[in-house]
Amino acid sequence: MMEREALEMDVVFVGAGPANLSGALHLTRLVKAHNEAVASGAKAGKALGEIEIGVIEKGSSVGAHILSGAVMDPRALKELLPDFVEQGAPLESLVKEDYFLYLTEKRAIRSPITPPPLKNHGYYIVSLNRLTAWLGEKCEEAGVNIFPEFPGAEMLYDAEDRVVGVRTGDKGIDKEGKRKPNFEPGVDLLAKVTVLGEGPRGSLTKQLTQRLKLDEGKEPQVYSVGVKELWELPDDRYPTGRVTHTLGFPSDTQTYGGGWIYGMQNRILNIGYVTGLDYRDPLLDPHAEFQRFKSHPYVSKLLEGGKMLRYGAKTIAAGGYFAMPKIYADGVLLVGDCAGFLNSQRLKGIHSAIKSGMLAAEAIFEALVASDFSAKQLQRYEQLVQSSWIMPELRKVRNFHAGFKHGRWLGIVNTGFQFITGGRAWGLFDRSKAEPGHEVMKRLSDYNYKGDNLEQRYNGLRFDGKITFNKLTDVYHASVGHDEDQPVHLHVLDTNICATRCVEEYGNPCQRFCPAAVYEMVDDGANGKRKLQINFSNCVHCKTCDIMDPYQIINWVTPEGGGGPDYKGM
Ligand SMILES: Cc1cc2nc3c(=O)[nH]c(=O)nc-3n(C[C@H](O)[C@H](O)[C@H](O)COP(=O)(O)OP(=O)(O)OC[C@H]3O[C@@H](n4cnc5c(N)ncnc54)[C@H](O)[C@@H]3O)c2cc1C
Repeated sequence: MMEREALEMDVVFVGAGPANLSGALHLTRLVKAHNEAVASGAKAGKALGEIEIGVIEKGSSVGAHILSGAVMDPRALKELLPDFVEQGAPLESLVKEDYFLYLTEKRAIRSPITPPPLKNHGYYIVSLNRLTAWLGEKCEEAGVNIFPEFPGAEMLYDAEDRVVGVRTGDKGIDKEGKRKPNFEPGVDLLAKVTVLGEGPRGSLTKQLTQRLKLDEGKEPQVYSVGVKELWELPDDRYPTGRVTHTLGFPSDTQTYGGGWIYGMQNRILNIGYVTGLDYRDPLLDPHAEFQRFKSHPYVSKLLEGGKMLRYGAKTIAAGGYFAMPKIYADGVLLVGDCAGFLNSQRLKGIHSAIKSGMLAAEAIFEALVASDFSAKQLQRYEQLVQSSWIMPELRKVRNFHAGFKHGRWLGIVNTGFQFITGGRAWGLFDRSKAEPGHEVMKRLSDYNYKGDNLEQRYNGLRFDGKITFNKLTDVYHASVGHDEDQPVHLHVLDTNICATRCVEEYGNPCQRFCPAAVYEMVDDGANGKRKLQINFSNCVHCKTCDIMDPYQIINWVTPEGGGGPDYKGM
């Protein structure tokens, strides 16, 4: 048995995203206000004394793994830090104009009206990477301990299955699993409450959900993946503060998808494409969809003469209201995207992530005062969420994503219809008929495809190195780094399937759905067969593989701390 250091804290937040950082910051203030009120006699009861709050983050720094659009609804940030503008929050611009375009293959048709969910007046364009780093500084100023390069690798439970903390990942293990000279065992961070704010498809959230059946009676979570680049334009052709959303090309009518183009400061263009991870075509490749989006005449004209600076990809939990797991259990709470708080109709989750973090802080504060960390006490978090503005917002769009299951046009009809019904839907559009995305993928034979040649879907798509790029070029721009001498963190539980059934049935779709060229089928010596090669050092931690693999045999676990992308300015 390995000797491990155990560190006792009061509250440990796993993941330094907007949800957890807001939670940690809010908690410090609640505790401080309580202690001061008790000391001055304004409040009865006992002071809490010093409360040790830790935030662990797998990235090399706070924000390194944060990737978003992002147009931020400032509602929650205003509640957390009413003077966030004066305090110097890194904001690119207020949204000055909204464009909504329908793209056919050759044309861009601007809608005379912007659909209400895509109206962004009063919102801010932000780099969420920068905003998160800034929130991290605010936390540290308030006394929160932040530990970058510390992935939460395992949940810790007591004999009654109560969560008692988290074990961080070991460092210095070689690819054979042996200890290197720099070996350091992970630490057991013991906490009264552990808060998971891992973002979409959190690896610990997945373990916890399975073990405690937090998703029992809930609809399966469904996801999308956003693939994105930052560009530097040669002139002011796209103004700072303009927000464009697109529908149509290049998604086929059966696939949920759409593009965004946001004007940041200094002629930086933020451009990306979202593809629903409940697509049918096994040859679909979300990275290729994005490249086709950029090759549209309207978009390529915008990018002409510009320079691509950065690349990234990340999933989005789009299931909403019906797919939210139970968000509390003994000793543990779920916040932000890993609890499913994102509003997929607006493609906005920053505001609800911040708010959920704050509500978690309030529930934890009450638990600290009561000295009770049981599920019964922590259920208070659920009550706070239910009575906050988060739930009415999510209820209104509860059947949004389900409509797109029947294709783009019925999806749009359903969206319009729900404005009238306040989110109610029947029959075809009812969310209760949701399927997990990986079950929706059809086989090659259903499409009459012969093998996995991409030309069958992406006939004519070329990577010209100017507007369109292949995956490896793009991944280079994600500044990904992983020590190559470590165990592979993408666990494929049965590689036989890859070389046999999957070749025939789906043509190894991992090679396509991964936006970072991690999965590659290579020749397996003289037998004429192919085998799976995992280029794990390319991994951008988007989690698409864990979600989309049709056999559900890919398990994404945290690699050694500090590995992964570095999304500066994204
Ligand atoms: C492409 C894209 C576009 C988007 N556009 C918008 C938009 O325009 N507006 C908007 O409001 N929202 C948008 N969103 C959604 C928004 O980004 C999220 O809702 C928000 O970031 C959720 O915050 P979070 O704190 O829950 O999780 P995240 O922001 O995902 O942060 C989670 C953090 O936890 C860390 N972590 C994960 N697992 C572990 C572990 N086991 N150990 C240690 N650390 C861990 C991660 O590295 C990361 O730093 C978009 C998302 C994407 C992907």
